Amino acid sequence: MSSVRVRFAPSPTGPLHIGGVRTALYNYLFARKNGGKMILRIEDTDQTRFVAGAEDYIKDSLKWCGIEFDEGVDGKGDFGPYKQSERKDLYVKYAQELIDSGWAYYAFDTSEELNSLRDAAEAEKSVFTYNAVTRKTLKNSLTLSAEETKALLESSEYVIRFKMPEDDEVTFTDAIRGDVTVNTSRLDDKILFKSDGMPTYHLANIVDDHLMEISHVIRGEEWLPSAPLHVMLYRAYKWEEPIFAHLPIILKPVGKGKLSKRDGDKMGFPVFPMSWKDPKTEETFAGYMENGFFPDSFINMLALLGWNPGTEQEIFSMEELIEAFSLERVGKSGAKFDPDKTNWFNQQYMKNQEDAQLLEALRPILAENEVKEYEDAMAIEVIGLVKERCVFVKDIWEQASYFFQTPTEYNAKVVKKRWKENTPTIITDIKGILENTDTWEAVPMHDLVAKYIEEKEIGFGAVMNALRLAIVGDGKGPDLFKIIELVGKEEAIKRLTLAIENIKR
Ligand code: GLU
Repeated sequence: MSSVRVRFAPSPTGPLHIGGVRTALYNYLFARKNGGKMILRIEDTDQTRFVAGAEDYIKDSLKWCGIEFDEGVDGKGDFGPYKQSERKDLYVKYAQELIDSGWAYYAFDTSEELNSLRDAAEAEKSVFTYNAVTRKTLKNSLTLSAEETKALLESSEYVIRFKMPEDDEVTFTDAIRGDVTVNTSRLDDKILFKSDGMPTYHLANIVDDHLMEISHVIRGEEWLPSAPLHVMLYRAYKWEEPIFAHLPIILKPVGKGKLSKRDGDKMGFPVFPMSWKDPKTEETFAGYMENGFFPDSFINMLALLGWNPGTEQEIFSMEELIEAFSLERVGKSGAKFDPDKTNWFNQQYMKNQEDAQLLEALRPILAENEVKEYEDAMAIEVIGLVKERCVFVKDIWEQASYFFQTPTEYNAKVVKKRWKENTPTIITDIKGILENTDTWEAVPMHDLVAKYIEEKEIGFGAVMNALRLAIVGDGKGPDLFKIIELVGKEEAIKRLTLAIENIKR
């Protein structure tokens, strides 16, 4: 195989689960690492499962994640169209080719007939399959005469089924799982072409992978059972097979079972990259983007969910992931999703971001809270003071709102503990000291107040806690004099005046 060409091939049947994003990511990393091409193909042959808005959702989510495509539905590339519904006519020819070569046949069984066979099998605790054995007794071009077949093709609905050989071994090499061998007797005669004139996933998928010269098929483990059929199809067409790599499933945080669409909202974390409103049920599902995750942190977390770099390194930029990625280091067994670790990643990214950059993310939150006037330099310093304690940008506001808003309430517990009979007098004295200082900086202000406390022989802690309550409205926060410095002289004096007037014991 000369050049690396991989594809991400979602069906627009709903939003993209984080498992899907991870599949796209691994394809992207693999393509970039190997100087190959990354393709976005939309597999929309199952019209009954089409969901409005899903395709845009998929594209927007991947864009937010920083996963880029070299070719695909948005117009780039020489192998288009990249949407299967626009390639409809092409599949007819390929289905016909298999009929002609004897690898496929027409089947005329109605759904009622098949359903009654299924019911009968179920009654005997077995499962009906359309396969090398049963097809000999069913209504298809293998059992009917040429004339009967011809007449039925003109008069009734039909499907085209793959003629799976009986008792043959199909072996292929999976880049993650090694050699996989399946006996064809365990496989059924899958429908390749449906009565609505559309191919099924199986036919369209392999025809397109072939025509688009896909070198590696990297996809979720749920497609592993389909791989033997796909390999058989390649053989039937005498086409070279791509290399397969089936990624491990993402497990629930408890470790058992696949992480499902509903787990997130049940357990309090998103399973979708962006929030999604189901157009039919109007139900809304949470998204990483809206919940305040940085795309880089989300991608970093996902990259390590199933792949390991073989070192202790945990924080990776996209460039570093590209450099380090290989399919050999993708695990076979399920990867357990860890919501705490996901938050941890975001916290690391928060710490590593420039304060000025975080201010840009904070601005809309400030605006929402009616904070209109603030100096950027001050806000940047505030961010630097509190960000260590934050997982999300919204936490900055929670930790630091008092820098921007005059407290209107005072924590009752702190008042009870810290605001004594003589506190208003002390705070009035301190207000006087601060009013008269020309150097509005934390250290000299601290020293002035400390000197006052010493002279008055009052408890240092008692004064500082009361002063904090007056400035912050609470007992929390970083260095008090830094807060006083940052809120500015006018505001600090205002807060002391308000506290003296308003705090009632
Ligand atoms: N359309 C399939 C999906 O929705 C693609 C599977 C594959 O990559 O072959 O996942």
